[in-house]
Amino acid sequence: MSWTLIAMRNSERQDAFSELQALYRQGRLAQALLISAEPERSLMLRDLLGRLWLCEGTQDAACTCRSCQTALEHHPDWIELNPTSKTIHIDDVRLAVSTMTVAPTWSPAKVIALYPADALGREAANYLLKHLEEPPRFAQYLLLTNAPDGILPTVKSRLQHWRLVGEEKTMAAEDQGNLLGRLKHEKLTSKILVQACYWVRDQYYTTHETDWLSVWEAIIEASGQLDLNGNEDLVRARILRSWPTRYAR
Ligand SMILES: [Zn+2]
Repeated sequence: MSWTLIAMRNSERQDAFSELQALYRQGRLAQALLISAEPERSLMLRDLLGRLWLCEGTQDAACTCRSCQTALEHHPDWIELNPTSKTIHIDDVRLAVSTMTVAPTWSPAKVIALYPADALGREAANYLLKHLEEPPRFAQYLLLTNAPDGILPTVKSRLQHWRLVGEEKTMAAEDQGNLLGRLKHEKLTSKILVQACYWVRDQYYTTHETDWLSVWEAIIEASGQLDLNGNEDLVRARILRSWPTRYAR
């Protein structure tokens, strides 16, 4: 799987929660995630995702169910590997994974959070890899890192990657014609795709027209293809094709 963008406005906790909640409800979050972000924001995302996956209630920020009221480190279905040493050892992974033979105690899911994921030793990574080949249905995996290149490619291939992008100038104020013009004629950089992502997402939240979700998806996919040195013209065509026909292309 390639990198995709999580177009999240920088550090607003509530904003980040809504974003993840939307992705979760649309079924866009995989069972095993790799999130690349600075340590501080990684921790914020860890908390928010843990909350979503473990919730026994309404899965919104106002929920007061037993799980939402329990700190993650005291939650029976939360397993965390965050070594004080520089390496995550195979024994730690073995122990964490062994708890996955038993179904969750409270929640619909049982979560293993592992960070920094680049601290996984080779043996530990290979052990995890074997486990990820056939994970139990209720299992959720969250690997967090600021150095994704430090993770074995074989492990990475089993994960859905999310990269937290930095705060970009929003294009909300920009009109659609302008944005389309840029997507048609400018070089497609990840910066312009992130801006387009924000803009399209805002359209969706304002109009609730599901077409914008398809455009959003097309842009996210396009961004992954560009990262893999995909053909820019094809990427551009894919985005423009996804644009709702009732709006001028
Ligand atoms: Zn809850």
